[in-house]
Amino acid sequence: MIPDRCSFCKGKLREGNTEFMAHAGGEVIVIKDVPAYVCEPCGEACYTTATSRKIDGLMRAAHQKKLCMRPLPAGEVSLKG
Ligand SMILES: [Zn+2]
Repeated sequence: MIPDRCSFCKGKLREGNTEFMAHAGGEVIVIKDVPAYVCEPCGEACYTTATSRKIDGLMRAAHQKKLCMRPLPAGEVSLKG
């Protein structure tokens, strides 16, 4: 369930794509092209349950070093496809 207002600043949420950043195994993982509802004023992002599950799956794979990432300062992976 996605609220139509930001829970922090009550700003309007806009459907779009964002980047999700997290730490895994001492590295920073950046997941690109994450569909989200982004707050226009403060940039806070809300995710659907389906998207959260995808992110959880990717993060688990990252922790187990099963993820193929481009060798950048921060590992990047797309949620597309
Ligand atoms: Zn906000």
